[in-house]
Amino acid sequence: MSHPSRTRNALRKILRFGGFASRLPSLGSRGYLETIDHLERQLQERDALISSQAAALAHSRKIFDRASVSAQIGVWECSLPDETLHWTDVVYDLFDLPRGSVIDRSEIVECYSPESARELKLRRDRAIEERSGFTMDAEIITRNGNRKWIRLTASVECEDDVPVRIFGMKQDITEEKIMLDRTRYLAEFDLMTGLANRSQFLTRLSSFCDHHGERKSLAALLLVDLDGFKAVNDSMGHAAGDECLKEAASRLRSVCGDGAFVARIGGDEFAALMGPCTDRGTIAEMARDIIGSLSRPVDYYGRTLTLGASVGIAIIDGSVPSELSRRADTALYAAKGAGRGTFRFYKPEQEPAMTNPRDAA
Ligand code: GH3
Ligand code: MG
Repeated sequence: MSHPSRTRNALRKILRFGGFASRLPSLGSRGYLETIDHLERQLQERDALISSQAAALAHSRKIFDRASVSAQIGVWECSLPDETLHWTDVVYDLFDLPRGSVIDRSEIVECYSPESARELKLRRDRAIEERSGFTMDAEIITRNGNRKWIRLTASVECEDDVPVRIFGMKQDITEEKIMLDRTRYLAEFDLMTGLANRSQFLTRLSSFCDHHGERKSLAALLLVDLDGFKAVNDSMGHAAGDECLKEAASRLRSVCGDGAFVARIGGDEFAALMGPCTDRGTIAEMARDIIGSLSRPVDYYGRTLTLGASVGIAIIDGSVPSELSRRADTALYAAKGAGRGTFRFYKPEQEPAMTNPRDAA
């Protein structure tokens, strides 16, 4: 292709020396040359403007790319309906793909976990249909086998109300997700045993009471406390005690199975929410199984540790959670009083006798 200014110079020569301008009507050669000069000046001005705009654009793009890299936010764009993808470097890095390589959307979608791929399709189809956008967190496994979490935003662009492009940002949120999951875990689970902690137990107890209260269905709260646990700590050390707690948690989990929600609510105290149950006999059977399982000796580096457990049971009856906890605790106290290694259902008679202040005087 010839350069425009070379073309203009050639035209000028033809007009000057070829005698063509004198043969053209009205303007004459001088008039044409002036017009050409004028047009040439205009073109030069326009060239200068385009160059300065191109420089400004390149500068803006450089700043944008740098900001995008330092913020670790990538920009993506997908044309519709042919689904051609364009990414910035950060998105390539996110997917562990060589920067600038050719990308095929169907292959990229395969990097998403099945659940995230399903959600992405649902949200993307809806956004295109409604000409809107969406934000979602998705799990991907990159070509290098790295599992990552990304936050994805998308907006649909239309021309004459026809979606022509979908674009947005992608950001690596793996660390944020790990932190959040860990914070959630710490808030809801007991680190030593992996069982639900007291806080999660109280939340579950409250909804359990709402669900089974007013005797809509038979359900129970079982409080389990290890017998003579202090002796293990005292004779074998705290580490041995910790092993006993982990073993007790694992046995409780396997005895209760899907039949009850189990939590560690204190030092050597556990709780189980059981229901709906067919009758009180099933609850008693569960208590017996728990005691039997926790009474089996624990092997600790070749030494045998002896454990045991007592259980207090309160039937869910529409009382508030704090009252049910108090009743189960009273029944547990009664079981301990009956010699340990046994269980008791709550009965009002187990309540300590109210002392009359006048008697005390
Ligand atoms: P009882 O038969 O009456 O239940 O008495 P016990 O010896 O089992 O002792 P109790 O239930 O009154 O107290 C529980 C003890 O558990 C007190 C504390 O030293 C110990 N403990 C609490 N948390 C932990 C823990 O995380 N690890 C260990 N090793 N011991 C703990
Ligand atoms: Mg105890």
